[in-house]
Amino acid sequence: MSATFNPFQTAQRQLDEAAEVLGISPALHAFLREPMQEVTFTIPLQMDDGSHEVFKGFRIQYNTARGPAKGGIRFHSDETIDTVRALAAWMTWKTSLVDIPLGGGKGGVICDPRSLTPAEMQRLSRGYMRKIAHIIGPEKDVPAPDVYTNPQIMAWMMDEYEVITGRHLPGVITGKPVDLCGSQGRCDATARGGMVTVRETAKVLDMDLRGAPVAIQGYGNAGQYAHQLGGELLGLQTVAISDSRGAIYNPNGIDYDAAVAWKRETGSVVNYPDADALSSAELLELPVTILFPAALEGVITGENAPRVRAKIVAELANGPTTPEADHILYENGAFVIPDFLCNAGGVTVSYFEQVQNAYNFYWPLEEVHDLLNATMTRAFYEVHEMAQARQVHNRLAAYLVAVKRVAEAVVLRGWIR
Ligand code: NAD
Repeated sequence: MSATFNPFQTAQRQLDEAAEVLGISPALHAFLREPMQEVTFTIPLQMDDGSHEVFKGFRIQYNTARGPAKGGIRFHSDETIDTVRALAAWMTWKTSLVDIPLGGGKGGVICDPRSLTPAEMQRLSRGYMRKIAHIIGPEKDVPAPDVYTNPQIMAWMMDEYEVITGRHLPGVITGKPVDLCGSQGRCDATARGGMVTVRETAKVLDMDLRGAPVAIQGYGNAGQYAHQLGGELLGLQTVAISDSRGAIYNPNGIDYDAAVAWKRETGSVVNYPDADALSSAELLELPVTILFPAALEGVITGENAPRVRAKIVAELANGPTTPEADHILYENGAFVIPDFLCNAGGVTVSYFEQVQNAYNFYWPLEEVHDLLNATMTRAFYEVHEMAQARQVHNRLAAYLVAVKRVAEAVVLRGWIR
């Protein structure tokens, strides 16, 4: 991400383009451009050595017209309020696009999780929950994992919330471990949903994806499962992967089990024995069929977009492509599966988790997979048909579908015309 890239300004510019095409009123447009509520706070933390440090945290409820806010919590040293605002806006459009009865939110803490011990991480997670407990809940705002947060952290946060409220309310947070009120199929839901959109893309482009070379930027939850499921479900061949420390490339393919084991043992994909070293920037420009950005925002820009050679850019990450890059990719004939379509499988199964928590009745894995498949397929074709009908790029088409629904809910509630 470049130092000058502002994700929230990007999110607002994307909305502006859609608002103009939809012809929504200036007042409604102004309302949709800003979060409805945001809180900023400090979390004092006792470190293991007895010293104290202070961390800054955020929770933003961007829009709740269609239902309770929904969105992950990111622990990252580069976290800013504008990153959280952008992610909360994109969640609003995402829940609308897949047509689940939720709004959009997001949260985060400025911290370097890799420098914290597990005990410090637990105290930070509980401290974060104590600061937001009064504004969240199953009927108000439901957090989930995002970059550098995971099911264990969700379990600690759920427990803290239940201690504070004195009630069993697992639906306060999603992405929990399956053994503690989580849902089957949540762990790989983001990548699995992304594979549905890639599968349907291949159908509309009349492409055979078996053996197609793939590059994956980011090798965490979204990236690792993309590697595994891309091979298992679609026969893709992953030839390049990267994480925050660098990238690796083997045109003959990188073995999933070996790469994951290497990352687990060494902490990174770099120095993996059966591949050549590459820079993270070079990975984006490889001659692959599919590029999966699965790390952070603002990595495909007006500067490098002319050199992106992938035929399909499947955005598992949120906000990887700037508006300048969008137009270049479109003109160059790349098929972009926009973030809040491609990665919507995560929030879709989070919603299933909430429903199961509310009923205290848990579904088998097949049911989760079937409903996820149906939801993602429907959303894909709504976007595709909009793009065809309006002759616009897929991101604008996704915005047109999603913003219209949120705008209608705002008007129906009588908040604004
Ligand atoms: P994660 O913490 O599990 O993994 C993040 C990965 O990105 C790590 O491997 C990290 O090393 C890598 N990374 C960080 N900076 C990088 C850089 N400059 N170059 C290359 N790699 C880099 O996070 P995640 O949950 O996989 O999330 C990744 C993206 O997917 C984020 O944009 C997130 O918002 C989005 N997303 C995740 C989910 C989900 O369910 N996990 C759902 C929707 C969207």
